[in-house]
Amino acid sequence: MADATDTPLMQQYKEIKSRHRDAILFFRMGDFYEMFFDDAHLAARLLDITLTARGDGVPLAGVPVKAAAEYLRQLVAAGQRVAICEQIEDPRLAKGIVRREVIETITPGAFLDEGALTGGRNNFLAAVMLGGQGGSGAVGLAAIDLGTGEFVLETIDATALDEALGRLAPAEVVVPAGSDVPLADGVMRTTREAWEFDPELAREDLARRFTVASLDGFGLGPGDAPAIGAAGALLRYLADLQPSGLPHLARPTVRRGDAHLWLDDMTRRNLELVEPLRAGARGTTVLEVLDRTVTPMGARLLRRWLLSPLRDPERIRQRLDAVATMVQDERGRARLREALDGVRDLERLAGRAAAGRATPREMGVLRDSLLRLPDTLEALTGLSRREQSALLNQAAEGFDLLTDLAQELAAALTDRPPAVLSDGEVIRPGHDAELDELRGLRDGGKQFIAGLQQRERERTGIPSLKVGFNKVFGYYLEITHAHRERVPADYERRQTLAGAERYVTPELKEYEAKVLGAEERMGTREALLFTALRERVGTAAARVQRTARELARLDVWAALAEVAVRQHYTRPEVHDGPTLVLKASRHPVIETMMPRESFIPNDVRFEPSARVLLVTGPNMAGKSTILRQIGLCVLLAQMGSYVPAAAASIGIVDRLFTRVGASDNLARGQSTFMVEMAETSAILHNATARSLVLLDEIGRGTSTYDGVAIAWAVTEHLHDVVGCRTMFATHYHELMQLPEELAHARNLNVGVRESGDTVIFLHRLESGGTDRSYGIHVGQLAGLPAAVVQRARQILGTLETEHRMVPGAPPPPEDPGQLGLFGQLRDHPVVEELRGLDLDRLTPLDALNRLAELKRRSGEG
Ligand code: ADP
Ligand code: MG
Repeated sequence: MADATDTPLMQQYKEIKSRHRDAILFFRMGDFYEMFFDDAHLAARLLDITLTARGDGVPLAGVPVKAAAEYLRQLVAAGQRVAICEQIEDPRLAKGIVRREVIETITPGAFLDEGALTGGRNNFLAAVMLGGQGGSGAVGLAAIDLGTGEFVLETIDATALDEALGRLAPAEVVVPAGSDVPLADGVMRTTREAWEFDPELAREDLARRFTVASLDGFGLGPGDAPAIGAAGALLRYLADLQPSGLPHLARPTVRRGDAHLWLDDMTRRNLELVEPLRAGARGTTVLEVLDRTVTPMGARLLRRWLLSPLRDPERIRQRLDAVATMVQDERGRARLREALDGVRDLERLAGRAAAGRATPREMGVLRDSLLRLPDTLEALTGLSRREQSALLNQAAEGFDLLTDLAQELAAALTDRPPAVLSDGEVIRPGHDAELDELRGLRDGGKQFIAGLQQRERERTGIPSLKVGFNKVFGYYLEITHAHRERVPADYERRQTLAGAERYVTPELKEYEAKVLGAEERMGTREALLFTALRERVGTAAARVQRTARELARLDVWAALAEVAVRQHYTRPEVHDGPTLVLKASRHPVIETMMPRESFIPNDVRFEPSARVLLVTGPNMAGKSTILRQIGLCVLLAQMGSYVPAAAASIGIVDRLFTRVGASDNLARGQSTFMVEMAETSAILHNATARSLVLLDEIGRGTSTYDGVAIAWAVTEHLHDVVGCRTMFATHYHELMQLPEELAHARNLNVGVRESGDTVIFLHRLESGGTDRSYGIHVGQLAGLPAAVVQRARQILGTLETEHRMVPGAPPPPEDPGQLGLFGQLRDHPVVEELRGLDLDRLTPLDALNRLAELKRRSGEG
């Protein structure tokens, strides 16, 4: 660009940039988006593109408009916002510098590019409003997925915010200025003025947007003010990002926390529902085992159900009825899945049409998907129903085949429309008379020109004469220098090449004008027709998305049925009672990682008289596994899935907590033990009598005495105060004594068999406790040197006889008035006997015999 325009251009740039300080400004200049100053430095670093400088020293970096989508994807992934500033008038007609405006701002939460989004999950943009003073009380949350048009409102308890954010996993969260909303790493925080969250303002905005008189119809009440406020702020923010208008949004759905099983963040992670504990591990998540969906909307819904199981037994049974029908009709299920398999992401395609972004190719995909719908409906109604499923009946009755749209698209679009509109061949011949006529003109012109070559060869007698075309000169006649003398007088020279000259004739020019004119008008006509078609689909987006959501449910039920059959799951019984019984249950993920049938199934029973179960057993016995598998069976049942067990009767759980292992949270920069205690305290505060608490080795992060004491007290509290179903796995065999004090607690152990100097893990849950942790055996298995193993045995013997944790340290103080951890054992004859044992002289067989003897006698005294 010339120097003379530098100053006004920079003025324009700086003026626009001043209104978009927090974004990288993509400043359109011809075929490039240019970035200046700090933006240029930042983009050059993030995108690995060249940083240059203008004549006046201003730093500059640019990306070609054609490749912008990929660069945008990278910037957004790096947590940046990008404001797209376009030229909004034709540069040829502009007086002075071209007018420019920011037409859209792209952020991690507001990004519609198809390729950047993973089909299997939503890309939510959320807003959070803390209610009440000091962050207590209800929290309002609103979330929108621009791609699918989904709009969710939630009013939740302050303590459930983590859970909600973890479940929705928004890429970006809008919060009011001055409020302190904790967000996970990697989530973009966007701060907006506090007044934008005003619920009254928001009520009006929402009512206007969805053309309703009041929000009552959405199921929103006075208690939902914070959620409404959040929704208002969210819409306002989106309007700023997309000043030309928001894409289609579905009416908001209101999610009630008390209708769903609460899974806190730790539980979600410990159970490896959607993400592996170890980053990058494959095949370890429950989602991977369950996800046999065939459509992207199905995959998204399955993920949502998994993260948000239900609580109402009736609703759960309805889902199970649908799954049961598909389990029973194997062929019907196969047909349904086959029909669904050809359906692409209808939800997002409709969203893109409504946003005016769908390409001709995408519209073609939309059409092909709609054409599958009759097959889908036929498969659905063809499912043989031994059991009635209300949900399947409903789905079949309300099924909108979208026949009108499908026919319109089928009539208008060519079989394989191109990705880019200007490539032409978008609209099918015979669809539009005007377009057909223009095509005829163009083809006639082309034919005439093609015939010209032959006629001119004959007229001039030059056999090598040929007709060609290029963008600069249009059509031409080319004659090699060898025949220069024979060029007729009516030829006008246009271009000289090394070996030939190019000419035009008035006749050629005339036909060229016809061809090119026709092509230009064809382009305009085709664009007009295509845009109208897209708009038509856009106005029907809500219908398409409704059908898409129906398909999603069918897809999920079919997927769950598929898993149930292949993995031999059974239908659980769900009820409001306090019992929880699993017969021959398995861990849904671990069993798939083992050879067939080698996972050892286990029975578990929680009932009012035994609602706290203490599982002891050596390391590696399978305590953590059984704990998780109980949690997963409950969760699967409550999402409406069959479960990996021979039989299951599940009294509904309102909140599920698992605290598994002292896994190292060192990466999070906190002491592991501190984290462990914080999580444990969160459980004690939030669990109710209907909850299920699965504690694995808590108290492990500190000294043994501390650990045992804390574990003891925590279990007591859960037993006495909370009264929930609890399973506590521990290798502290000292805790075995707990059930003697707690009326509703029982001991279980995961058995091992000793064989010579080693142990065999049976992975079988049995009643009663174990009194050894076999830690040294495990050490031996793991290859500790023999001398170390032997020395460890020796020290263990001393420790156990002296009741000391550290040899030589004073024994712990005891309160004779209470049943201490070990105090009651003091004078037991068995203890006397143990004291007398010389472990160094015992053979393993001797030891086993003595152990059997001691066990027999432990009943006495
Ligand atoms: P613990 O918590 O008692 O130390 P884990 O639950 O971590 O033991 O189990 C250790 C290993 O034992 C698991 O990785 C798994 O391979 C195996 N395992 C656990 N339970 C079973 C089972 N029921 N059947 C077969 N293998 C099992
Ligand atoms: Mg364990």
